[in-house]
Order: sequence, then structure tokens, then C-alpha cells
Amino acid sequence: MSVLDLARPEIRTLQPYSSARMEAGGGQIMLNANESAWQPIGEAGAGCNRYPDPQPERLLCALASLYGVKREQLFVGRGSDEAIDLLVRAFCRAGQDAIVVQPPTFGMYAVSARIQNAAVIEAPLATDFSLDVSALLAAVAPSVKLVFLCTPNNPSGKAISGADIEQVARALAGRALVVVDEAYIEFADQPSVIDMIDGYEHVAILRTLSKAWALAGARIGSLIASADVIALIRRIMPPYPLPSPCVAAALEALSPSGQDAAREHITVVREQRTIMRRVLPQLSCVREVLPSEANFLAVRFADAGDVYQRLLHAGIVVRDIRRYPGLGDALRITIGTPDENARVLAVLNEAMSNKERA
Ligand SMILES: *Cc1c(COP(=O)(O)O)cnc(C)c1O
Repeated sequence: MSVLDLARPEIRTLQPYSSARMEAGGGQIMLNANESAWQPIGEAGAGCNRYPDPQPERLLCALASLYGVKREQLFVGRGSDEAIDLLVRAFCRAGQDAIVVQPPTFGMYAVSARIQNAAVIEAPLATDFSLDVSALLAAVAPSVKLVFLCTPNNPSGKAISGADIEQVARALAGRALVVVDEAYIEFADQPSVIDMIDGYEHVAILRTLSKAWALAGARIGSLIASADVIALIRRIMPPYPLPSPCVAAALEALSPSGQDAAREHITVVREQRTIMRRVLPQLSCVREVLPSEANFLAVRFADAGDVYQRLLHAGIVVRDIRRYPGLGDALRITIGTPDENARVLAVLNEAMSNKERA
């Protein structure tokens, strides 16, 4: 069987929208898309009188080379969020099919599924937030079409071993598409499992320029999978998902000097993560700092609500993650610049000594 047998039959036979840009390009006088013939005013809009290339060749090449895959194995969209949404829509029939997630994890998998009216089956992570492979496999009912694995996981920070991912993939061949979300993999000690797409046609990888590549505002994310899955996703993508200025920003970020900057910042984040992980537990308000392979730390506090307010009062916004199972006393703190991290430590120190005086 083909992985496409898991997809919605009506999507496989859908006649995709054929945009003007797809049908013809390269002319000197472009009168096929009802665009304005005049440039908008201002530098920021240069070239924006024209619809963008739906999957710009230069960006596809740059990303494919960055990730070590072929162009036809990669779809670029508006962040990995869009890829998650398109996967759910392509594979899950409303009211019939399901996805599996492992709470506590990234919320968009469940949100996209609910929008599509697909069921969300939960196979919780173990108490140390590691993947419970047998619990996960037991949760994969016949209705399940997509299994999301987030590594390193948001919000716990823990990564899944390549061996565990492989075990899941082997067990689910022909049964479900395994979607490995590697939004934070650039910060991890362990490598990406992107090579698995060559051995498993039912494995898909999500990557993004939003975190390590400093481009959250440009919304550029990739889905990497077998050429068949990518072709299916391209059938249902919006006609022109990628705004031209965002494509230009991504190409600059992926240039040699952009790559140098990204590498340098990843090194700083990893160093700062080590420092924060060593210093935070010395503060009396801190119960535990969870090990993290991402650019954030999940930190358990004696009184997380109080710490949140104190940080906020000092102008520092962190993420309250107390609503997640197993994290009822935790805040998620992104690793910032060395100065920003020192500020966090200073405020927490102050909070502590004020309390002792009171
Ligand atoms: C931030 C994040 C994303 C979203 O990435 P975009 O490319 O900005 O849409 C995806 N997955 C996880 C786990 C994230 O934390």
C-alpha cells in the first residue's frame, strides 16, 4: 500500500486550484493575473504589485540544501503551523478520523484537528516527560491517521531518541503518518531524524525558521516528507502562501552570513541554557529546572503565580504553563541574550530576599 491510501479520498482526486502564476510566467508583459501594472509606493512593497511564486524556486533550493533533502520532498508554507493544518485537512475526514498527541505538548496539533472535527486521542508522556512508546502505540486506533511527535518537546524541553522514533515508525507503517515536529532541533544535542523520510514514506518532518533562524515574523516553515505526500499537500495549499518580502527575508537568513549569524546565536543560547540550568536551582523560589534541549527552560517554582507576577512587574514576560498536565507549578522561560537572562536571575534573587525579609 501507499501512504496516500491514508489520505482523504476526495483530496486525492481533487482538482487543485490553478493560479495564474502556476499556468504561465516569464513574460515581459504580464497581463494574466489582474495585478496592478504599477509598483506600490515605498521600498517595503517593491515587487509586491505581482503575486508571488507559490513555491519559490530559490527558497525551495536553499531550504532543501539546508535540510539535505530533494526539492520535491519539501513544502514551504506560512510557518509549520500551516503545514500542521494542511496535514490534518489532507488526512483526517471530519467526524471520522483522529490524531494522536502526547500531552503536555504543543497546542496547535489539537487545535488544527478540532477545526477539522477530527478526534484528538491523548497518549500522555511519562512523568519524566519521556515518550512512552508502548502507551503511544496502544493509543493508535484504526481511526488514527496522524501521530504527532514533538522533539525537543514544547513545553517540557525533552527530546525523543532517534531509536524511539524509529520504533514508532516501524510499528505504524501502513497505519498512520508519523509527523515529527523538530521546531527546536537546532538547539538539541541529538541530530535531526530527517534522513528517515528516505526509509519510511509514512514519516514527515516539520522544520521552521521561526526559532533558531530568528524569523518568527516572516512565517516560514517546511514540511519534509516523501514526494507523494508533498505533492498531495501542494494540491490543497493556498494559491500564494508566501508573501514576497518574507521570501526575501528567508533568503537572506539562509545566505552564508545569515547561516553564520544563526550558528553563533545557537551557540550562545546553548551556553546560556547551561548557565541558567546551573544557577536557577540555587534560588530558593525554584523547585526544579527540567532538562531541556530547546531554547527555553521549564522551571518549577514554589509559587509560580507569584514569580510570574514579579517578573511581569519588572517588565519580563514568561509563559505560564501551569495549565499543562504535570506542569502545575511551572513557567516556561525562553533563553534570551546574556543580559536578558541576567535580568531574570536578578529579579528572582530580589524576589527571594524581599520575601525572606518580610
Ligand atoms: C513554535 C513552534 C512551532 C511553530 O512554528 P511556526 O513555524 O512559527 O509556525 C511548531 N512546533 C512547535 C513545537 C513550536 O514550539
